[in-house]
Amino acid sequence: MEKIRRLRVEINGAVQGVGFRPFVYRLAKSLELRGWVINDTRGVFIEVEGAQPALASFLERLPKERPPRSIIHRLSADWLDPIGYTAFEIRHSDEQGQKTALVLPDIATCSECLAEVFDPANRRYHYPFTNCTNCGPRFSIIEALPYDRPNTTMRRFAMCAECQTEYENPADRRFHAQPNACPVCGPHIELWTQGGVVLSKGEAALAQAAAALRKGEIVAVKGLGGFLLMADAGDNAAILRLRQRKPRRDKPFAVMVADLAQAHALCEIPSQAEKLLTSVEAPIVLMQRKMHAPISDQVAPGNPNLGVMLPYTPLHHLLLRGFGSPVVATSGNLSDEPICTDEHEALQRLAHIADCFLVHNRPIARHVDDSVAWVVCGEARLLRRARGYAPLPVLAHHDLPPILAVGAHLKNTVALSVGRQVFISQHIGDLETPEALAAFERVIADFLRLYETTPIAIAHDLHPDYLSTRWAQQQGGQLIAVQHHHAHLAACLAENGTDGPALGVTWDGTGYGTDGSVWGGEFLLGGTAGFERIAHLRPFRLPGGEAAIHEPRRTALGLLWEMEGEALLERDIAPIADFCSSDRHMLVQMLKHGVNTPQTTGAGRLFDGVAALLGLHQKVTFEGQAAMSLEFSADTSVTDAYPLPVVSQVSSATTEAARPRCILDWQPLIEAVLDDMERGMAKSVIAARFHNALVNAIVEVACLAGVEQVALSGGCFQNRLLTERATQRLGQVGFKVLLHRQVPPNDGCIALGQVAVAAARLRG
Ligand code: ZN
Ligand code: ZN
Ligand code: FE
Repeated sequence: MEKIRRLRVEINGAVQGVGFRPFVYRLAKSLELRGWVINDTRGVFIEVEGAQPALASFLERLPKERPPRSIIHRLSADWLDPIGYTAFEIRHSDEQGQKTALVLPDIATCSECLAEVFDPANRRYHYPFTNCTNCGPRFSIIEALPYDRPNTTMRRFAMCAECQTEYENPADRRFHAQPNACPVCGPHIELWTQGGVVLSKGEAALAQAAAALRKGEIVAVKGLGGFLLMADAGDNAAILRLRQRKPRRDKPFAVMVADLAQAHALCEIPSQAEKLLTSVEAPIVLMQRKMHAPISDQVAPGNPNLGVMLPYTPLHHLLLRGFGSPVVATSGNLSDEPICTDEHEALQRLAHIADCFLVHNRPIARHVDDSVAWVVCGEARLLRRARGYAPLPVLAHHDLPPILAVGAHLKNTVALSVGRQVFISQHIGDLETPEALAAFERVIADFLRLYETTPIAIAHDLHPDYLSTRWAQQQGGQLIAVQHHHAHLAACLAENGTDGPALGVTWDGTGYGTDGSVWGGEFLLGGTAGFERIAHLRPFRLPGGEAAIHEPRRTALGLLWEMEGEALLERDIAPIADFCSSDRHMLVQMLKHGVNTPQTTGAGRLFDGVAALLGLHQKVTFEGQAAMSLEFSADTSVTDAYPLPVVSQVSSATTEAARPRCILDWQPLIEAVLDDMERGMAKSVIAARFHNALVNAIVEVACLAGVEQVALSGGCFQNRLLTERATQRLGQVGFKVLLHRQVPPNDGCIALGQVAVAAARLRG
């Protein structure tokens, strides 16, 4: 007789809410094994008994045949003596113990559910909350771990007999699908007026919402992780009204389309972008817009790209099919505040924007914006990380102590390390309003509660005035201040599985330097543990400080001031002419006396300054607007470059053994730009030569640095031309180029970097 043995298996990773237990159940049954499977706060536990070959087969097939949405980080197995199980069962979740099971992100509607929603014979026909174990809400409805219905916002809906049967049947696609619902027992939609009066319900509400869009109205739609404001993307007047009300002057809007065919009508979609677009994460994908795309020019004015997403819940599918053509779909908020999640709050906050409200009664546990992604250097990369991705962790290549990192000021995210996992929050936004600060505090409390972790240290930005820094200081305990660009470098290293050494080319608009000045065009040599600032842009002054962010012409003035002082007033060029005479003279006086003219090495500002010189933008309505125009105007067939000499500075501090620091002197570059302009050279050529100069300088400093790896991070690497050219050239010279993939290159990556640096400091 064959020997009976018992096998105990522990699996950690994304194994809850993805149909893992029913999969184990079916596998065990098919192999005639007995025992049980259970979810607990750490993952999935299994005990199976049976003949040795069957157990071996079970162990082999477990990782191979796992459900498509699951991720196994660790699988351990112990062989034990049998204790005589008689059947296989799925046991109730165990809520004790450390909470390290992964909270899954929300998953776009699967094809099977979609087919049911559009099948008139199905009991879920046109039901907006249809889901199964392979799809549906997760992160946006979870209130506590483990992931079971009573711990979600679905707890207030008691399942009907039919749903309960599906839920309990291991052979059903909805076995233990926590948000399982149907028209009889689940959430419902209503269309409300601005005053909260019910206009219609159910199917009628959908039809009326589509009709409102057709009339050019703005509809606030409560979706998965918050409200989206929708308007007919083909209706100029509607989009303009949305821009005025939000207010959002020029910043591009994203578009939601009913299906892939509509997306193809709008954009050139390379196969990789299509894969991203149709992925279960279903992000907004930035793609090249087609010349005669049937869409208002107001959707993304002056932008060759368009952000497009597919519907990701049945509600969105139904509304988009009902409406029939693309809609603008932008976060339901005011400018950079967090997205609105509650229908009653929405009536207050969005009253002056939306004409009507399509709402439902499934509460949203936490805000989750739409993610933004694109394909750069042949790979999918993120620009905003939220729905579909958060809160999945980035895996560190070694164990980290529990650290809370509070991120930067703009595009804030927070992070928490638990073992090797660094959980990164969804995009929170710019910490400039009370709403954003409240959301920031809510997300931190949420993370600490979900993972029941007490951090031993809080990592924050070096900037003393950031609200995130102040918040950290109020908490007390061990604080670790991390320089902004060091965090950029460390984040890029962390997600590429290394601690360095590398050359970090960390370029952005602004970050507080170790000398108290504004950095942003930095070359940091080092790794997670520390860095040396081996090169940076030649500093220049910003007349009026922060005001220069909104007025690139001020940056142009600051650059010219360094070159020629008061003589700049004689110049007949766009940024000078754009000031009225008194402002012009006042700013020059400020520069002369050093009043409110902070020094910066910000690379983002150099883009702004050159864009202003070219007459592209003298004032902007969102950060990066001028730099984007400069990128978009570049003729990519131009290969020559302006001079941007890397000059070694002779250090006066002779005691320092460190190598001399290099300065990228932008003066010859600006002079060449001015010469070309005088000669009437096309802006497209000037813009290209400018980009090429930056690429040359990056390669030159990399050669001086003497390391094999170069990490590119910072908001400037949202510039595709700069990123792809730099990556290509560095690669040709033999460098290994590290780019962001799981977190954005902008300040959305700072929290991850802060965790990595803080962990290295704690290790000593
Ligand atoms: Zn499904
Ligand atoms: Zn039901
Ligand atoms: Fe930054």
